[in-house]
Amino acid sequence: MPKYAEVLVNVANRRLDQSYYYVVPENMDLKAGMIVIVPLKNRRVQGLVTRISTELSEISEDVEIRPIEAILEGESLIPEELLELAVWLAETTICPVAQALHTVWPFLKGKAEQWYIPQAGMEDEDVKVLELLDPDTFCVLKVLNRARRGGLPEGVLLKRAKVRPGLLEEMLKQGWVKKELRFTKASSLGTKKSLPPTKENKVSSFLWQESPHQLTAGQAKAWQTIWDCYRKRKEETVLLFGVTGSGKTEIYREMVFQVLKDGGDAIVLVPEISLTSQIARVFLEQFGDLVGIIHSGISLGEKLALWEKILAGEKRIVIGARSAVFAPLPNLRLIILDEEHDTAYKQDENPKYHARDVARYRMKQRQGLVLLGSATPSLEAYAAAQRGIITIASLKERYNNMALPTVQIIDMKKELAKGNKSLFSIVLRQKLRERIQRGEQSILFLNRRGYSTFVFCRECGYVARCPNCDIALTYHSQKQKLCCHYCDYSQDVFDRCPDCGSRFIRFFGQGTEKVEEEVAALFPDVEVLRLDTDTTAGSNKHKEIIERFRRGEVPILVGTQMLAKGLDFPNVTLVGVISADQLLYRPDFRARERAFQLLTQVAGRAGRGVKKGEVIIQTYSPGDRAIIRAASQDYPAFFWEEISYRKQLNYPPFAHILRVILFQEKEEKVIRAANDLADCLKRTIEGREEEDYQILGPAPAVITKLKNQYRWQVSVKGKNPDILRQIVHSAVKAFFQGISSSGINLSIEVNPLAN
Ligand code: ADP
Ligand code: ZN
Ligand code: ZN
Repeated sequence: MPKYAEVLVNVANRRLDQSYYYVVPENMDLKAGMIVIVPLKNRRVQGLVTRISTELSEISEDVEIRPIEAILEGESLIPEELLELAVWLAETTICPVAQALHTVWPFLKGKAEQWYIPQAGMEDEDVKVLELLDPDTFCVLKVLNRARRGGLPEGVLLKRAKVRPGLLEEMLKQGWVKKELRFTKASSLGTKKSLPPTKENKVSSFLWQESPHQLTAGQAKAWQTIWDCYRKRKEETVLLFGVTGSGKTEIYREMVFQVLKDGGDAIVLVPEISLTSQIARVFLEQFGDLVGIIHSGISLGEKLALWEKILAGEKRIVIGARSAVFAPLPNLRLIILDEEHDTAYKQDENPKYHARDVARYRMKQRQGLVLLGSATPSLEAYAAAQRGIITIASLKERYNNMALPTVQIIDMKKELAKGNKSLFSIVLRQKLRERIQRGEQSILFLNRRGYSTFVFCRECGYVARCPNCDIALTYHSQKQKLCCHYCDYSQDVFDRCPDCGSRFIRFFGQGTEKVEEEVAALFPDVEVLRLDTDTTAGSNKHKEIIERFRRGEVPILVGTQMLAKGLDFPNVTLVGVISADQLLYRPDFRARERAFQLLTQVAGRAGRGVKKGEVIIQTYSPGDRAIIRAASQDYPAFFWEEISYRKQLNYPPFAHILRVILFQEKEEKVIRAANDLADCLKRTIEGREEEDYQILGPAPAVITKLKNQYRWQVSVKGKNPDILRQIVHSAVKAFFQGISSSGINLSIEVNPLAN
C-alpha cells in the first residue's frame, strides 16, 4: 500500500501555512518531523513532514500526487510527541499547523543551503600537485577536507577559503567537488525523535530538602486523594477545591516533592508569573536549581538555553505562565494549574488554546496527572467533578482556622436616596478612616475600564437585557441604541426607567479612574498606590509596588482585577469593591461566573494575617445571586444556581460555542460578509442530520472597531465540538468562494472565554 506524507512547506515562515500531500517512495525511511525536498508547481522547496498515513481523505482522486524527492534532514526537527501535540492543537483550535508548531517548539527555524563536498582526499597525487599549480583550488579543498560534516555551505566556504565566487562553479565542472542541498538547523535542539527518559532520577540523587512545613490533617487528606490518583498512572485530572488561604501552595509543593522522588518531572502553571512570584519563591527555596522559570521577559536565546537544560534533565520543575505548558520535560508526569479558572490561561492569538486543554492532552500522552487548583473553580471543572469525570479534593478551612472575612453588601441606590452621590458609600469611607487611624492597610478594587457601556437606573438598579439571550445590552454612541452582541437585537435608549419611572439613568463604563482622585480628596495626607496595566507596563514596576505595599509603607492600594490573583498581604484588613455592577453587566454569558470569582478572590485578600478581615461590596444590584453568594463565600450554592441557568439557556458546559469574527476597514463590507457567512452556516446546518445547532448573529463584536477595522461576529452553538468545527470549516470554505469574502479577515475561536 502506498504511503503518503503531509508536508508543511516553508516552515520557517510562520504566516504561510501550506500543507501538501506527497507519495513516500518505497525505499525511503521517512519519519514525521524530518525536513524533505518536494516539488511545488515548477519549483523545488523544503518542507517539514507533519504526518504520514496510508489514506488521503481530503484530496480528490484526479489530483496528481507527486513523490517526495529527498530527505534533507534525517533527524526529526522536533520530538515526535510535541509534533503530535502541535497537529492536535492546530486541529482543535482551528489554526494553521505552522503557527501551532512555532508555539509548541519555538526553535524550528533553519534553512536549506547549497553545500560543497570534496570529491578527492588531500592524499591524492592530483591534489598535492595543485598546491603549486593552483593555490586557490588547493585552498578550497583543504578547507573542505577539514570540515566536520564532510563539507560546507557555500557562504561559509567562501569566507574561510577567501576565494572568488566563480571558482566554486569551475571546480564543480572540473569534478573536484560536488554540490548538495542540505538543511542547517538554527539550534541543536530537537535532534531526538522522542523525549527520552533521562538517566535515573531516583531517590539516590535526592539532595534537595524536605518541605519546611508539615501538612495539616485536612491538607494531608486532600493530598492523599491526589496522590492516589497520581499512582494509578492513568490520564487523570483532579480538582483541588480549597477556599482562599487554605494552603493550596503547600499541597502543590508536597505533590511536586513526591513526584520528583518518584522519578517524574512537573510543570507548575500560574496565571501571571510576575505577580505570583510567591509560588516561584516557595519552589526555589525548596528545590533550588532544579527549578526553571519561564517569565514573560525571557528571550528566545535564554529560552533555548533553558530548553537545553530541561532536555538534559538538569531542570525537573518548570514554573511559568500559560506557555510553560509546552516545556519539554523528559519525564513529565504532573502539570499543576494554580487558579485554574483564570482567563489568562486562554491565549487570544493563534493558536487560541486553553492551557488546561493542552495540559490534559499532554498528560494523556504520558499517563500523568493534571492538578487544577482554585477557590472558585471554572463552572466547567466543577461540573466535570460533579459528574464524576474528574476527581475532587477539598480544603474547607483556612490554614490555622483563620476566619474568612465578613462581607457586607452596600446598596448604592440607598446611598443616592440619602443624597450621597460620590463613588464611596458612607460605610466604606468610615471604615477606610478607621484603618488609616489603626495603621492597617486597605485595598480598593475597581474594574478595568471596559470596552462596553451599559445603561442602568440608579434608583431601582434596572439594567436592560436582551430578551433572546439574557445578556446585558450595550450602549452604542453612534447609533444611540442599546444592542445585544450575541444576536443583534437592539432597542432605543430610555430616559425614564421602564421599571420604576425614575429619571436617574446612568451610563456606566466610564469614570472609574476617578477613584484615585476621590480617595486623594477624602484623605489628602495619605499616600495611595495604584496597580493596573497602565501603571505597570514593566513587570519590575509591578514588583516594586507590591513590595512597597507588602512592607506596609502605604496604607491604601487601588487596583484592578490583577489584585485578585493570589497575593498574600498579612496587614490588609479591609477590601472595598467600588462597584460590582460593571462585572455583572459585561455582555458575556459568563459575566456572573466572572463576577462571583473576582469578588470571592478579592475578598480572599482580606484578613490573611492575625487580624480578621472585612469586605465591603458596593453595588446597585444587591439582590444578584453572584453577589449574594460571593458575600457568603458559598461556591457550591452559586454553582448549582448558575449551572441550572446555563442549562436553561443552553450555554456551556451544556453546549459549545464557535465564534467567527470578521474584520475589515469598510463597515458595509463587513456587514455584508457577516450576513453571507451566516447564510453559508445556515445552509451547512440544514444539510445535516443533527438538529441541535444554532446560529447566533450576525452582530457587531463587543469591540466594534479595532485598529481601524470594523468587527462583526457570527457564532454557532451546539453539543458536539467536532461537528461544530466541521460545520464552520465547510461554511467558511463556501464563504470564501463568494465575492463578499474578498478582503475580509476572519478570526475563529472555539469556546471563546470573553468578548
Ligand atoms: P491558598 O493558595 O489556598 O490561598 P496559601 O497556600 O497561600 O493558600 O496559604 C495561606 C498561608 O498559610 C500561607 O502563608 C502559607 O504559608 C500558610 N500555610 C498553609 N499551610 C501551611 C502548613 N501546613 N504549615 C505552615 N504554613 C502553612
Ligand atoms: Zn428604575
Ligand atoms: Zn441577544
